[in-house]
Amino acid sequence: MLHPAFVEIHLGHLRHNLEQVRRRLGPAEPIAVVKADAYGHGLVPVARTLQEAGIRHFAVARLSEAVELREAGITGSILLLGAAFPEDLAACVAHEVEVTVSSPLLAEAVCAAAPRYGPLRVHVKVDTGMGRLGIWPEEAPEIIRRLEQTPGVTLVGLCTHLATAEQPGDPFVQEQLERFEQLWRQVGDAFAVRHVANSGALFTLPSSYWSDSRQQARIGAALYGYLPRPELPGADELRPVMRFVACIVQVRTVPPGTTISYGRTWTAPGWRRIAVVGAGYGDGIPRRLSNRGQVGLHGHRFPIVGAVCMDMTMIDLGDPETAPDVQEGEPVVFFGEGGPSIAEVARWAETIPYELSCAAARRVPRRYQ
Ligand code: PLP
Repeated sequence: MLHPAFVEIHLGHLRHNLEQVRRRLGPAEPIAVVKADAYGHGLVPVARTLQEAGIRHFAVARLSEAVELREAGITGSILLLGAAFPEDLAACVAHEVEVTVSSPLLAEAVCAAAPRYGPLRVHVKVDTGMGRLGIWPEEAPEIIRRLEQTPGVTLVGLCTHLATAEQPGDPFVQEQLERFEQLWRQVGDAFAVRHVANSGALFTLPSSYWSDSRQQARIGAALYGYLPRPELPGADELRPVMRFVACIVQVRTVPPGTTISYGRTWTAPGWRRIAVVGAGYGDGIPRRLSNRGQVGLHGHRFPIVGAVCMDMTMIDLGDPETAPDVQEGEPVVFFGEGGPSIAEVARWAETIPYELSCAAARRVPRRYQ
């Protein structure tokens, strides 16, 4: 079956990015974050490639993702980053999934479940300033003591999440680190490892990971070839793993004054050659790119004109006298080699690359290379 839109996933680039991550991490060990279908790149093919390249630790956000990994033969540790429900703890034991204890209530549930269902490996998450999941540092020692004394509970890691790791020199991130270090000095002996850094911190904050081999780092974006901010020094070491391509489904010459797409937000200023491309917001192309994004074709950039539709997007190839000779069926690059970078598209769409790779829809086939 021919597909008007597809994404290419360059597994060689994934392996290259892993090497760069390892080089930066030094003695610390990466936990590969493969939640949300490996940020849209495909959970199982990505995890298998990483496992073959020696990755021993994975992290997901949903229990269903962990189970899918186990069923696909992933043997490394799998950490459930998201809040687990007490009802899920038996399944976590059965599938050997490590649980993030991020609330006093969940700590209670773990203490009740471990003697009943079997050994539970847990990480304790403290909220040092992210304002999302986590136990307050002040209440952590008591909870950790209780977990430590419960038969069947193994304390694996102490962790926290940084709110502004991608902003070099931000004093808040130092405050978060100090709160974490203070707690680690108090309770660190109870744990095998600690982990704080994400991709932003990997490029801005060596003090968040580069100290000893009891340190791990939870890395997602950098493996996929982008960072929360493309201008971070070192970002060019990474290679984009996803390339979003769609085919031209119709090419027409339209007279001056012709309006394009819903809402008639673009009017042809003269005779124009307009190509209809077979991908829209139903495929993961942000509607925000209407009249402001560009695509790559024949090594050049062409503007998106009119509103991006669910299944189609129109581009302006220019004056028919000078427009390139473009055939129906030809590929157009929304992001990746031969087109704009995912970071550029994210800027036009007022979002981050993470959202764009996650948005590549289920109906868009992944072609692995
Ligand atoms: N740790 C946690 C708790 C996360 O939620 C995420 C991703 O959102 C990561 C680590 C990985 O972050 P990044 O993809 O920026 O490396």
